[in-house]
Order: sequence, then C-alpha cells, then structure tokens
Amino acid sequence: NISQSAPVIRQLDDAAINRIAAGEVVERPASAVKELVENALDAGARRITVDYADGGKTLIRVTDDGCGIAPDDLPLALSRHATSKIDGSDLLNIHSFGFRGEALPSLGAVGRLSIASRVAGGEAGEITVSGGQMGKVRPAALNGGTIVTLRDLFHATPARLKFMRTDRAEAQAISDVLKRLAMAEPYVGFTLRDISGGGEGRVTFRADAESGDMFDALHGRLARILGSDFADNALRIDATREGLHMTGYAALPTYSRGSAVAQYLFVNGRPVRDRMMIGALRAAYMDVLSRDRHPAAALFIDCDPVLVDVNVHPAKSEVRFRDPGLARGLIVSGLRHALAEAGHRASSTVGH
Ligand code: ADP
Ligand code: MG
Repeated sequence: NISQSAPVIRQLDDAAINRIAAGEVVERPASAVKELVENALDAGARRITVDYADGGKTLIRVTDDGCGIAPDDLPLALSRHATSKIDGSDLLNIHSFGFRGEALPSLGAVGRLSIASRVAGGEAGEITVSGGQMGKVRPAALNGGTIVTLRDLFHATPARLKFMRTDRAEAQAISDVLKRLAMAEPYVGFTLRDISGGGEGRVTFRADAESGDMFDALHGRLARILGSDFADNALRIDATREGLHMTGYAALPTYSRGSAVAQYLFVNGRPVRDRMMIGALRAAYMDVLSRDRHPAAALFIDCDPVLVDVNVHPAKSEVRFRDPGLARGLIVSGLRHALAEAGHRASSTVGH
C-alpha cells in the first residue's frame, strides 16, 4: 500500500547482534565444546579437560594449560570480531582453528560465561558475562592456562532450549566432537568428565598425549578412539598430488561397516564433513566393497591454506578446495594404491 509510511530502519544493539550470531555458531552444547576446545588448541595447550553436567545444558567447563589471556585482554576476548589469530589482511591464509572472534561473545550472549586465565609470569584474572552484560575483571586464583565455564546454555532462549535433546544424546554429541578434535591432535592429552550431580564426576573419555613420529602418534590415538580392531586392520596412507598431501589410516575392506560412522575427514587439521570427500572415499573402495558397506578411515588432507577456503560456514565444518577435482583425485588414487598394495601382499602371504 503506497500511502503507508516506510518502516523504520534501526541499527541492532550488540546484545541482539551477538544473540543472532550465536544462533549460527552455537547450536547445542557440543558446538560450544567445539569452540572452546579449539580455542584451547589454538592457545597451544598440551592438556585439555572438558567437564560437563546434564549433557552440557547446565555446565560446560574447559580447562587448558595453554598460553592464557592477560587480565587487560579479557574484555577484548569477549568482544565481537576481536581475535588474536589473524589481522584481517589475509583471509586466505589461516593456520588456526579460530579467526572470526565470534565464539566467546556468542556464548556470552546465550549462557553465563566466565573466563579465568593467567599468562605465564603474570597475574590471574577472571571475567564474567551473562545475557550479553560484561562484568569487571577481578583477580583470580589460577596457576596458569585458562578455565572457561559456560553455565545454563540457552537459559535466555527458551525456543532453543526446547530443541535440545536428552542429556544422553547431548553428552554423546559432546563426546563425538571431542574425539574428532582428539584425532587431529594426537600429541595433546584429552579428558572428558561427566560431573552431573557434583562430586568427582565420571571420566567418559580419556586419551593421553601420544608420542613418536606423526604416524605412530596418530596410530596410537586412533587405536584409543576407534579401537585396536580398527588400528590392526588399517592401512597407512601417505600420498601427494600437486601440493595436496593426504595422510592417515584407512581400513581394509574386510573391516568395513554397515553404517558410515567411522569416516573421519580433516583438512589442514580441521574436522570437516564434506560431500565431495566422502564421495571420493566411497569411490576408492567401489571395486572392493559391496554397496551396503562403508569404508572406515581417518584421513588428513594438508595443503597451503590458500588452496582451500575454510571461510564457508560459521561452524566451519565445510570447506571449498580451489581445485576439487585435484582433491578428489588424490583421495581416490591414494586409497586405491594402498588397497592394491595390501591386496598384493595378502594374496602372496595367504596360501590357500
Ligand atoms: P577466535 O577463536 O575466532 O579468535 P574467540 O571468540 O573464540 O575467537 O576467542 C577470542 C580470543 O580470545 C582469541 O582470539 C584468543 O586470543 C582468546 N582466547 C580464547 N580462548 C582462549 C584460551 N583458551 N586460551 C588463550 N586465549 C584464548
Ligand atoms: Mg575461537
């Protein structure tokens, strides 16, 4: 109706902007765990402990022994688009998990967030933000590293609360997220504890830091997470094509599964779920696996960050290769090569 006056255009305030962003970054407790553990890894932590209660709905606490945050920087860490990881000049050249500076402000908008931290040789400080309202930095007691505590996720967003699943399902999702990250970082020790109802809690997953060369460490970590059955039946993968490297372990066809649960893909150390890559994995096993079986594998593609765009989605689980055909070719040929070699060995050693 032309005679009606135009609607007023308003600038949203920070609290509203953070809540909207949180909708993209934080879907459920497991996504908060992912962001917090990635921050700990970016901080160079060697040991990371994740405690949670009630499937992470009432409490998530991530403790790390990383570089810490100076008290004066705590308010900045909670500010939107503030990050220590990039300077914004080169979005194609990203080496850290984080870079958007969105996770902490988003979590502070949808839960009660507190960060206690200490840089080596400095004072320990603590800051709390709740409902997007930031408190003052207070002194804290802490030996080093960082403890981030997130309470009552979505308490101010009843619509979101309703979509959360049972404690058990949310705890399972937390465990899955942590295990994926633990696969990518075998030299880091991880502990996951359910502390529902208080007390010491119950360790639900633990992986001590692995040692040895990259393949040894990864093999040990995969045995820990996927079981020795996988590790004993896995082929070492090591292939290169025009600047793309693929390493990891892929199971013999005889170890295949009826569902695709044991397919773990990483690009530059980042867990991803990528259709193209899953399709390539499937294609590589096509001749040796019936259609209802799924190959099990943990594969790591590494390349110069300029060859792959990780800036596709806020939750960052999708990637875009500059040359998808090249990536697909590497996966298919690298796996087929390893399978063929294993096939030769098997047929020459098995005498019957
Ligand atoms: P991003 O990870 O994209 O930089 P975040 O909102 O997740 O954004 O974190 C903001 C900043 O807070 C980080 O860039 C980092 O400087 C600091 N930070 C967050 N978590 C930690 C941690 N566990 N240890 C040290 N510094 C941290
Ligand atoms: Mg981050």
